[in-house]
Amino acid sequence: MTILLSEIDLEVKEILQEEIERQQNTLTLIPSENYPSRAILEAQSSVLNNKYAEGYPGKRYYQGCKTADKIEKLAIERAKQLFKGEHINVQVHSGTGANMAVYQALLKPGDKILSLNLFHGGHLSHGGKGTFTYNHYQIINYGLDRDSETFNYEEIERIAKLTHPQLIIVGASAYPRAIDFRPWRKIADEVGAYLLADMAHIIGLIAAGVHPDPVPYADVITATTQKTLRGPRGGLIICKKKYASSIDKAIFPGTQGGPFMHVIAAKALCFKEACQPEFKDYQKQIISNAKTLAETLKNEEFRLVSGGTDNHLMLVDLSDKDITGDKAATILEEAGIIVNKNSIPFDKKPPSITSGIRPGTPALTTRGMGNSEMRLIGEWISKILYNPHDRNIRRKIKKEVEEICKEFPIYEGLK
Ligand SMILES: *Cc1c(COP(=O)(O)O)cnc(C)c1O
Repeated sequence: MTILLSEIDLEVKEILQEEIERQQNTLTLIPSENYPSRAILEAQSSVLNNKYAEGYPGKRYYQGCKTADKIEKLAIERAKQLFKGEHINVQVHSGTGANMAVYQALLKPGDKILSLNLFHGGHLSHGGKGTFTYNHYQIINYGLDRDSETFNYEEIERIAKLTHPQLIIVGASAYPRAIDFRPWRKIADEVGAYLLADMAHIIGLIAAGVHPDPVPYADVITATTQKTLRGPRGGLIICKKKYASSIDKAIFPGTQGGPFMHVIAAKALCFKEACQPEFKDYQKQIISNAKTLAETLKNEEFRLVSGGTDNHLMLVDLSDKDITGDKAATILEEAGIIVNKNSIPFDKKPPSITSGIRPGTPALTTRGMGNSEMRLIGEWISKILYNPHDRNIRRKIKKEVEEICKEFPIYEGLK
């Protein structure tokens, strides 16, 4: 039982080693990625992996669930303390799974879902083409305002009144502004729709109180635990008491089998970490770092969608530059700067090419980087993107990136 990976499978071991080095020696600006604590990784690789516990605490379909019950109850208790929600489901495996369970709990096949256009920052799980959701529900989209590149409530209200959706979704994967949930509640009430707040990206900011709280407004809130919340890969559903039973049933047996008890243990720890005062400091620094990076890029004459950021990410519009989003992301990687390409609102290029990139600061902030590092990184990004044909610049910056990465280890002493 104590055989180590390095003793029985060098192939896998070497790939894992390579990934440790990649994460350590590059700058992750993908806003959905983060580095959870070693303790969270430890909980996630614990023997709870071995336990089947279908059902919920006290009502399992298997024997031997005493510790499974304890850990799930603890996770729920801590999540309730953190989010002040009436009911919480910690079993959901992912953000996408959480959304699918909400549709199953609240809707009938063929019902209408009103959500943000994927190409304006929405998420595939809100009804993008090719998804289960797209095939089973009628998807209606709202977009962003052409001038402000933010939500246009008059327009959303107009579409809602015209189409009478059963469910309205607020939440995005690439929206750099703070969201006020009050107008959303008002529109949902006006047309008799449920309101789902998909907070996958910004749940950490919400937990720390540095972003408006959807809990008083939304019927259901879905989230991931691996993004700004800095926990294990997983999902989370918060809902009003009256939806508790249908949400739980939509997870098990509706859309999942056995819960991942090891991940639930890691979620319990993640919620505890998020209750600490340092977590609030961390989330504040994420925003401060994003503002500094945004200012630096603006000083270098890059246009940011909506003019800036209130949260952990920004969308850089490259359409007036001699480079696509795809090419930008590729050449930044050559210098050890990891970002993703992203459509900008009203993008003329297809999603495989795009006119934008979507840098974010959660992962670098976890490493301890601050405003001066953000300025430096912003200048590197600028230099690389203004000189896409100059390989030497990228080679030089890659060395500097590796230097700064040494100063800010992802994990102290990780081999
Ligand atoms: C990331 C994200 C999800 C999906 O999360 P997964 O855990 O990858 O399934 C859902 N909604 C939004 C808005 C997201 O950004």
